[in-house]
Formats: sequence, structure tokens, C-alpha cells
Amino acid sequence: MQSITQMARVVRVQGDFLLQGNKRLSGRGAHVCPQCIQSPNLQKCLSRSFKAPFPSELISQIVKNN
Ligand SMILES: [Zn+2]
Repeated sequence: MQSITQMARVVRVQGDFLLQGNKRLSGRGAHVCPQCIQSPNLQKCLSRSFKAPFPSELISQIVKNN
């Protein structure tokens, strides 16, 4: 079980999706479920969390960083 600090977190700031690194970003955020990172449903899962289509470029970044 991964701790929450190791989990990827994405934030939506003024309509832009950002991968949260070490700095804290304010905005609507969502953690990426560890079980979803490896799954083809990751984009669907994040789109559901944000209630907006999640960009696929960020999906590849999240997968690369984890
Ligand atoms: Zn999920």
C-alpha cells in the first residue's frame, strides 16, 4: 500500500490540469488511485474525478513518473 505522499496528485487550476510535484498548488485536486495508474482506465477515472475530459498528454506523464 502506497502512502498518500507517494501518490501522484493532479490539480486543476483555472481550467488547466497540472501534475503536482513538490510544491503545493491550490485548486481542485485529485489523487491518482494506485490501482488505476497501471490501468487503461486511468484517463476515465480522472475525467470522472474532475468531471471534465482529462488530457492524454498528462496521462503519459503520470505513468512515466510512477
Ligand atoms: Zn481510480
